[in-house]
Amino acid sequence: MTANTTSSTVLGACPHDCPDTCSLVTTVQDGVAIKVQGNPKHPLTDGVLCTKVSRYTERTYHPDRLLHPMKRVGPKGSGQFQQVSWDEALSDIATKLKAIADQHPERILPYSYAGTMGMVQGESIAMRFFNLLGASQLDRTICASAGGEALAHTFGGKLGMKVQHFAESKLILIWGSNAITSSIHFWRIAQEAKRQGAKLVCIDPRRTETADKCDVHLAIKPGTDAALALALMHQLITHDWLDHDYISQHTVGFEALRERALQWPPERAAEVCGLKVEDIRQLAHDYGHTQPAAIRLNYGIQRSRGGGNAARAVLCLPALTGAWRHRAGGVVLSASGHALHNGVALQRHDLLTNPRSPLINMSTIGDALNTPGLIEAVVVYNSNPVAVAPESAKVVQGFAREDLFTVVLEHFMTDTADHADYVLPATTQLEHWDIHNSYGHTDVLLNRPAIAPMGEAKTNTQIFRELSLRMGLHNPLLQEDDESLCRLALQHPRNLQSASPVTWEALLKDGFAHWPVADAPFAHGGFPTASGKCEFLSSSLLALGQDGLPDFIPNYESPTPQDRYPLAMISPPARNFLNSSFVNVTSLRDMEGEPLLEIHPEDATLRQLQDGDMVRVFNDRGSYACKAHITTRAQPGMVVGLGIWWRKLGAQGTNVNELTSQHLTDMGRAPVFYDCAVQVAAMR
Ligand code: SF4
Repeated sequence: MTANTTSSTVLGACPHDCPDTCSLVTTVQDGVAIKVQGNPKHPLTDGVLCTKVSRYTERTYHPDRLLHPMKRVGPKGSGQFQQVSWDEALSDIATKLKAIADQHPERILPYSYAGTMGMVQGESIAMRFFNLLGASQLDRTICASAGGEALAHTFGGKLGMKVQHFAESKLILIWGSNAITSSIHFWRIAQEAKRQGAKLVCIDPRRTETADKCDVHLAIKPGTDAALALALMHQLITHDWLDHDYISQHTVGFEALRERALQWPPERAAEVCGLKVEDIRQLAHDYGHTQPAAIRLNYGIQRSRGGGNAARAVLCLPALTGAWRHRAGGVVLSASGHALHNGVALQRHDLLTNPRSPLINMSTIGDALNTPGLIEAVVVYNSNPVAVAPESAKVVQGFAREDLFTVVLEHFMTDTADHADYVLPATTQLEHWDIHNSYGHTDVLLNRPAIAPMGEAKTNTQIFRELSLRMGLHNPLLQEDDESLCRLALQHPRNLQSASPVTWEALLKDGFAHWPVADAPFAHGGFPTASGKCEFLSSSLLALGQDGLPDFIPNYESPTPQDRYPLAMISPPARNFLNSSFVNVTSLRDMEGEPLLEIHPEDATLRQLQDGDMVRVFNDRGSYACKAHITTRAQPGMVVGLGIWWRKLGAQGTNVNELTSQHLTDMGRAPVFYDCAVQVAAMR
């Protein structure tokens, strides 16, 4: 921290669900945060933040910020609350939770995700508390578990290229990622590579802002990525654009994969993917002839029924060509497994003593809440399930249950908070300690509090500390302070005596530290799978009785023009929102305008739509009201519902998740947000 008489700067970390995990510098004047900027000394942040977080002070000092505990006084969902003291709120919550816990602790469900990516304000004291209580276990699947399992079955963990080395790549495939919106720092690196002569290829159903700036855009049909990857393999194999030495030394199952890939000539994939045969051939040729070639894969690819298989198919490509031999070659979907943080010690799953605790999937919370006798209380933190979980009608119906006791830790009165019995004001990133790793890079960051908590806000950890004491849980592990938890996160998870390569002192001084990761992590193999190799044929999938090879698995809902619901809908984040975060920040919402459905001119004409018409987007699950935006960003037969608006800030109290289903992916039990058939009609 540097200071003069009136102002100081404090180093922090962006807590949002974004692969860039920026290092922040907050300027504080007389106890007030006056600006939040990117840390120029952190190489990947390079002094730049996205538009969303550069307005962090607007969010922190928002007039609607929750500053006091609130108790519901109206019907569920009405948003009618009155201010109460912490003492009253915590006493009543403790009494109600204890009454349930005395009989059926497993009927208490924690519901949390990546509202903060911080390890301490995420799952540390909270997880210990719920484990000791014997509550349900939450299966945290809503975003990344299909891709995560694909990585585990192929590479042995969430591992991949170091993002900075993309700058030296000569061919970059940006697959399932609108990097300009969701990973601007990677995009800066990709542009640097482009200036040095790299070819950029965007593979995305939508003509995104990123696609506009790439050399090639392949507008693939949603959920068909595995077919494209298998056709690329077909071409690599039939033309012998392979690194035989790498394959024989560092992979398992090539012959089986070869047989599978030979079933996918470009003509077949072109039909399935809605692409031109020559475009697939050209991409395969480029990939087979360019070194180093790199793939930036993102989680959009895994939001369909076959999402895990699709990710696996793409992950196999670099081992076929030996792209891993170069530090600027390979693939990255998530790199979070490189840093050996001690999440185990923070969360303490060993404290769970209730053998009846079920695993409840957060992606099917709608069904879970409507299952008689399963859940009596929900404690929500770092999440907004009423807005973000699929099939809203069931989610809302569940949270509206009068016999459900709901507590929400929040910054704002979200759609979920509206359904709570108690809303507890939580601190923002500027007001607490935390430690962060990243899924997009391999640095570790420390977040220090820049300002005092606003109003009566408390940290998540403090709320669970106080609640545990009131419930008679006196285990000292529930009282560890935040700074100690940050230090604990740095300890080696398997050898507590082993010195961490990242020191507390370095983090205090610089705000970040580089985790030591080899520049080309798989140049000489060394994948942490059971075989020590890249597993084309996955032994772990075979052990589960599943197909060990990647394959194309068609969507649950693959509409044709004759169908009742003839349009395939995807719902990527709007540019100025991050999932449902920031929707209530006025300047960002003003930039975003209104909830929009992008629809191709041909589909609009068929429905006699004009640009800006209010439309009803519907299927058997529900109906979403928004404005039509007629644009070639959507392909014919496909619409794009930009998300994720808060229901109460959207039109007619709806958002795009009215339409999405609770079907799950082939791996990871994840939601299939981009596997959704709809119809569109003008509201007249
Ligand atoms: S959301 Fe992403 S790009 Fe924006 S500040 Fe956070 S980490 Fe950086």
